[in-house]
Amino acid sequence: MYTTIDTTFHEGILEILPDPVLWVTPVYSVIGNIDDFEVQFSNKKADDALAHFKGSLMGLRIKRDGIPSVDLCTTNFQHLLKVFETGEGEEFTLYLKKTGSSLEALAKKYKEGVLSIIRDPIWQREAEKKEEKANQVLESIVQNSYNGILMYESMRDESNKIVDFKIKYHNQQCNELSGYSDKERQELTFRQILQGIGAESFFDRYIEVVETGKRTQREQYVERSGKWILSSIVKLYDGFLAMLTDITEHKILQELLQQQSAITKGILDASLNGIYSLIAVRDKSGVIVDFNYLFANKVIAEFLDSNPEQLAGKSMLTLIPENKENGFFNLFCEVLQNGAPFRDQVYFVTARSNKWFEYSIVKMNEESLVVTLQDISEQKYATLKIEEQKAMLDNILKFSSSGISVSEVIRNKEGKVIDARTVLANDAAIINSGIPKELYLTKTATEIDPQILTSSYYKGVLNTLETGEPFNTRYFLQPTSKWLEVSVSRMDHDHIITIFTDVTEVRKNELQLEKLVEELKRSNANLEEFTYAASHDLKEPIRKIGTFTNQLKSSLQPKLSEREAYLFDRIENSTIRMTQLVDDLLEYSHVTINPSATERIDLNDKIRKVLDDLELVIREKSAIVIVGKLPVIVGNRRQIQQLFQNLISNGLKYSKSDVPPEITITSEVVPASKVEECAHQSLLYNYYHKIVIKDNGIGFEQQYADKIFQVFQRLHGKAEYQGTGVGLAIVKKVVQNNNGFITVQSEPGAGATFIVYFPQEEALL
Ligand code: ADP
Repeated sequence: MYTTIDTTFHEGILEILPDPVLWVTPVYSVIGNIDDFEVQFSNKKADDALAHFKGSLMGLRIKRDGIPSVDLCTTNFQHLLKVFETGEGEEFTLYLKKTGSSLEALAKKYKEGVLSIIRDPIWQREAEKKEEKANQVLESIVQNSYNGILMYESMRDESNKIVDFKIKYHNQQCNELSGYSDKERQELTFRQILQGIGAESFFDRYIEVVETGKRTQREQYVERSGKWILSSIVKLYDGFLAMLTDITEHKILQELLQQQSAITKGILDASLNGIYSLIAVRDKSGVIVDFNYLFANKVIAEFLDSNPEQLAGKSMLTLIPENKENGFFNLFCEVLQNGAPFRDQVYFVTARSNKWFEYSIVKMNEESLVVTLQDISEQKYATLKIEEQKAMLDNILKFSSSGISVSEVIRNKEGKVIDARTVLANDAAIINSGIPKELYLTKTATEIDPQILTSSYYKGVLNTLETGEPFNTRYFLQPTSKWLEVSVSRMDHDHIITIFTDVTEVRKNELQLEKLVEELKRSNANLEEFTYAASHDLKEPIRKIGTFTNQLKSSLQPKLSEREAYLFDRIENSTIRMTQLVDDLLEYSHVTINPSATERIDLNDKIRKVLDDLELVIREKSAIVIVGKLPVIVGNRRQIQQLFQNLISNGLKYSKSDVPPEITITSEVVPASKVEECAHQSLLYNYYHKIVIKDNGIGFEQQYADKIFQVFQRLHGKAEYQGTGVGLAIVKKVVQNNNGFITVQSEPGAGATFIVYFPQEEALL
């Protein structure tokens, strides 16, 4: 159905309009629906704009003929239909997919149709072309960018409040970084996307960007893409532009660095050494006025009563002001200026401890230093001790009057000692040895004395080296006229220590003493010989006196007065006594000068024999003799018999007149220490037989205990108790001849106890 319209009036106006204008009227279907619109009028601009229709558009239909293009005609139709049906004008846009540009259209109901005015795409095209080019460049940049770029537009409610954002644009990279596809971007709002990546809490920050225009930035790990993303967000129109950067590598690196620095810190903290770094603090003119701690490990922090975190950034001179005066501050400046590392030791005296430290200062860069401190107190004290000991040893060596030298043996391939070399010798050793210093310390033993390998001294040294047993020797050194005592000890497998002592004086004294002893022995022997000779020779004249006195008495007998007969008796008695004395003296000197042969003697047998000899007296005096078990000793049979004979007969002789004598003889073994108490000297034997002869006789004052053992010494009168005073002297001599000792204990009226010690022969040291 066509409607005829007078177009003449409008034609002129429409023709001169700069924009393309179409007037279309509806085309109804059979059932009365609007199927299409037909162009009833088109101006020249419109015909030009849609030049592909080649000529006037009039009579062409929107849908059927595809105005303005096949793909846009339906949309166009819809808009036109809406305007026609509602009567309300509408502005709408038709996007031209091919060119990417758009057509802005204004449609208004006009008479029985719709007037559609289109902004002329031709005049727009030039500008659009330019923009298109620029846009293409930009697009290409954006599409090829490594960064994800997205633009969101605000979605507002009635009160103009932003409630969400809608995607306006995003590039491909964006999808890869966020893990969201194009479709998802289109379908989901920004809030939903944030929810999807677990970052909803950041939503308000985006609103803030749009509202305040302040840009923001944030980092996030996006699980969907497995990437770390840095988003920089700026306001753009009524929305925001976000630039997404992949910082995964950077993040991994950062994490690695953090781990490394944690490890480094751990190592530094675990270090027993103190480590810290300082950065110079300069004044305006560039002069260093202080240092700040950049880093300090635990050791240092503890030393300064702090912790590593607190120390960082602190001023050194505030914490340790004394570093200014003690030179450390200047030292740090110096190392920083000339770059040469510095190392030294220092003794720190603090309230808590006194310690030695070894420290090093190393320049790290133009402004900072690294200082390490090591507590070396233990090593230092040990070194000082060693030095002290060395000094002491040096002094001992230097001032010792004894020569001390250390020799190192030289071995052949088989390990046999073939020579030796002195490696250390003090002055005294060199003086004492008589070997010139230049030889002593440079030549080997065989070079100094080629004969040494065959000497007994060398053999002694070898034995000491092998067994570790020291050996001593003495020798007279001709060149120095000195007697030396040399003692050789083993220091270790290859070293021996030799100590030379000048014993010239000792040796002189010894020789003197030996000479004196020799003289004494000789004079004693002379004396003993004299005693023997005298007593022996005296016997003959005494015998003669006795004989002649007897003869004289017999011939004078009848004429002798009583007085004269008495005098003859006195002469006779004196002669008898003199004979006794001379006999006893002879006996004594016999014991003294005759070093008789010794044998093993069973004292049990010996005592029995003595008691047999004394049987008469024992019976006369009704004496009791009790003998215990006695040992076997080594001695001279005759002398031992004399010893016991004298002791037992004295026990019987010096008995109380009214009490029958009782003598007990007992024996036991005692250690040398017990004997030393009474012998007052150190002894040659470990054990002794202690034989005790105890009587119940008259006894004597203890003060005479020594006296009674001297020749001719008697305590009791001869009228009462006969005797010569030689018996105990013989006893003592016999005991001495047997390397024994004798003592006596007594008191008047309480008997006497004689104790004899004989060495236990097998216990010889
Ligand atoms: P003597 O021939 O006089 O007995 P000894 O040398 O045997 O000479 O003794 C010296 C002196 O020691 C004796 O004279 C006596 O005074 C005293 N004496 C010796 N043995 C005993 C004893 N068992 N009891 C008391 N006195 C003793």
